[in-house]
Amino acid sequence: MKDILIIGGGPAGLTAAIYAARAGRTAAIYEKETVGGQIVFSPMVENFPAVPHVTGADLAARMEEQAASFGTEFRYAEVTAIRRTPDGFFVEAGKASDSAPAVILAAGVAHKGLGLPDEEDLIGLGVAFCAVCDGAFYRGRDVIVVGGGDAALQDALFLSGLCRRVTMVLRRDVFRGEAMLVDQVRNTPNIRVLLRRRPLAYLTEDGIACGLRVLDLATGREEDLPAACVFLAVGQKPQNEAVQGLLELTPEGYVPAGEDALTPVPGLFAAGDCRRKTVRQLTTAVSDGASAALAACDYLKEIGF
Ligand SMILES: Cc1cc2nc3c(=O)[nH]c(=O)nc-3n(C[C@H](O)[C@H](O)[C@H](O)COP(=O)(O)OP(=O)(O)OC[C@H]3O[C@@H](n4cnc5c(N)ncnc54)[C@H](O)[C@@H]3O)c2cc1C
Repeated sequence: MKDILIIGGGPAGLTAAIYAARAGRTAAIYEKETVGGQIVFSPMVENFPAVPHVTGADLAARMEEQAASFGTEFRYAEVTAIRRTPDGFFVEAGKASDSAPAVILAAGVAHKGLGLPDEEDLIGLGVAFCAVCDGAFYRGRDVIVVGGGDAALQDALFLSGLCRRVTMVLRRDVFRGEAMLVDQVRNTPNIRVLLRRRPLAYLTEDGIACGLRVLDLATGREEDLPAACVFLAVGQKPQNEAVQGLLELTPEGYVPAGEDALTPVPGLFAAGDCRRKTVRQLTTAVSDGASAALAACDYLKEIGF
């Protein structure tokens, strides 16, 4: 039995494990997909202090190695529910289910789709969420990136190095991302930006997406944009289903925890993108991981564990 069970092996969960171990506590991380979390999909990270240029995958691997070096146990399983017990919590994860007096939820966020017809069936068939993972399949071809935030800008820049032409489709008339990334996109000759376009449907051929139909909000005209792949970077949704029975989430589905990581449930802490906050970045995720681990250690001391 571990002192602390951590749900999610992203930057927040990995940092929580490092801090818990250094405070003399044992911890296990549950991870349902890829240790490292979302950052694994980032082609280049340039805003993590002391590591000026690093791919997301490398950064994630270094964090994983550091957590493992402190004795963190990794359990590759999806947590489906967390229940209160007289001694703490029961974490339901199939064969990897376990109990612990303290739990840190660091489940992050998942990608959102556009909600267009047949979208679910087209994922992996001309519709993708990860430029780094799938971009190479479309080398020399035309692709579309939907979205106007940092992730969309980074995806477009990454794809511009591989693909013939990248078309960015945005609903708004301005980008939401960092000014520096916007400048880079504007200065990249093979990126074209289409503002004020609403996606209406995927173009398909033999069950494979081959572009996007959009509505030009300025003219009211429909436009077909052929492309070998449509990359979606239109936001995220929190993955907090496991704690739904334990506490009331915010209307958007985030855990109502502040910088102290405390939730309304004693012994349950929340860190990283899964909690209510304004800035969802690596630096804030690792900061949260440290706070959550130290708060969990204080809690264990308080209850005499
Ligand atoms: C393409 C892209 C580029 C980015 N670039 C940057 C950047 O350059 N700089 C920057 O600061 N930030 C960047 N970010 C944001 C940054 O990656 C996130 O803010 C950060 O990863 C959040 O960390 P986290 O640990 O809170 O959550 P996540 O990274 O989302 O990790 C959560 C983990 O929990 C796991 N999980 C979820 N639910 C369960 C469950 N029920 N059971 C088991 N495991 C579960 C998930 O599989 C995931 O691995 C980028 C994000 C993306 C998508």
